[in-house]
Amino acid sequence: MTASVSIVGAGPNGLTAAALLARRGIDVRVYERRSTIGGAASTADVFGSGSRVDLGSAAHPFGVASPVFEALKLEEYGLRWRHSDAVMAHPLDDGPAAVLRRGLGDTADALGVDAAAWKRVHGHVLNHIDDHLENFLGPLLRWPAHPVKMARFGIPGVASANFLSRRLFHTDAARALFAGSAVHAITPPSKPLTAAFALLFGSLGMSRGWPVAEGGSQAISDALAAVATEHGACIYTDAPVNNLDDLPPADATILNLTPARAVAIAGEHMAPQTVRRLRRWTYGPGTFKVDYLLSEPVPWRDPRVGEATTVHVGGTAEEIDAAEHAVVAGRLPRRPFVMVCQQQVADPSRAGTTQGTILWTYAHVPHGYEQAHPGEVAGLIEDQIERFAPGFRDLIVDKHETSTAALERWNPNFVGGDIAGGSMSGLRALLRPGLTINPYRVGRGLYLASGATPPGAGVHGMAGAWAARTAMRDLERGR
Ligand SMILES: Cc1cc2nc3c(=O)[nH]c(=O)nc-3n(C[C@H](O)[C@H](O)[C@H](O)COP(=O)(O)OP(=O)(O)OC[C@H]3O[C@@H](n4cnc5c(N)ncnc54)[C@H](O)[C@@H]3O)c2cc1C
Repeated sequence: MTASVSIVGAGPNGLTAAALLARRGIDVRVYERRSTIGGAASTADVFGSGSRVDLGSAAHPFGVASPVFEALKLEEYGLRWRHSDAVMAHPLDDGPAAVLRRGLGDTADALGVDAAAWKRVHGHVLNHIDDHLENFLGPLLRWPAHPVKMARFGIPGVASANFLSRRLFHTDAARALFAGSAVHAITPPSKPLTAAFALLFGSLGMSRGWPVAEGGSQAISDALAAVATEHGACIYTDAPVNNLDDLPPADATILNLTPARAVAIAGEHMAPQTVRRLRRWTYGPGTFKVDYLLSEPVPWRDPRVGEATTVHVGGTAEEIDAAEHAVVAGRLPRRPFVMVCQQQVADPSRAGTTQGTILWTYAHVPHGYEQAHPGEVAGLIEDQIERFAPGFRDLIVDKHETSTAALERWNPNFVGGDIAGGSMSGLRALLRPGLTINPYRVGRGLYLASGATPPGAGVHGMAGAWAARTAMRDLERGR
């Protein structure tokens, strides 16, 4: 008899699991609470006139490098990665911006006195990027595929990004570039293990780029769904699952959810110690997103910033660290770290028929932050961009704000506006969610796959792949 698997949630991890299982001939049913699929890899016409605004993910270093996306041949299902000339730019007050480019030499040579140190610290990771990805794109508590490389990465990686960069670099530019990559962990770059994020994000940028998906991140989800349905999977939208017992019987169920939601709908099917572990899981800082429709591209003081899709707006490494510390302490920094994506630089289709420019931004804010007054966070984001692009405010035609509460209403996985599926500070970056040998199996025939399980947040599908493999193994063994 054909085995059957239910999947709760049609985010990139849920859809990846669906595609892998359906390809193996398993009867797959996906239940998605919203009317559209994709979770935080989705795109909508926020400003009218056919605009394509990414509602969640924008740039995809781990998507383009994902072994499972490659195995699923998503390009054959309509996905096109689009790269900008520069991967990422980091404007600074005093002097030119720091720019991450594809190619170690091209990035390092622009860093002047820090060129040799930049090459030294990234060279090994960059030259063996596939092996490092194999080590990191899965659970930590297993024998690594490449133990020597893991050890070699681990020596600098366990440090804080700012400690390592103070030891290695002399210029604000190199230090800021390093800290900007580290802060994708949404944790202060002076915290241990953040150097690992800096090395991995930076090296991925210099090898594979941080591309956007043509037409919007929705294209990634649509391609995954196309693989799944081609192999017989059924995807039901407007199908919220409030209790696992409401679903038709299946041999296994995969929850594309973060721990709080998983316990809420399926806690009765988990062992008490699993429920306790998942309840102890800590969510991290929030995100406040503001999308802009501009009359023309951002007038960056350093025009090279306009060549990059991703822009890190936060000033020096020290300033970023202070802002992130304030966020963790529950205070809104006056100068928050702002992530900016100018997708149109690589993908001109984004503005639809308007003549304008779409600008995607978010600021790191305290967990569950409620604004003191309307427009508070958007005002700070605009101050930060204006600082490096005088005249920016005059170009704003329209804007769309998504608070931490609105993010959670849109997608209950993002508790308190935490887009990473749980805090990434310290060991939580590695042991997700909590200390367990198999983070994917949470009950008999019950599995978890989301940003809360290794390898963590991001659109790469690897958590879905690991959960699907665990479920398939259990089904084969009759567990
Ligand atoms: C603003 C923002 C910016 C981001 N930027 C980037 C970026 O640039 N690059 C990157 O790689 N990543 C980025 N991320 C993170 C990335 O999008 C997530 O890590 C990723 O989408 C997680 O995928 P997932 O499949 O685990 O879950 P999700 O994307 O959260 O999808 C889960 C799905 O489950 C559904 N669901 C939830 N509860 C139920 C229920 N009870 N019943 C049925 N369905 C349910 C949800 O509606 C959703 O569709 C960003 C996220 C956000 C929000």
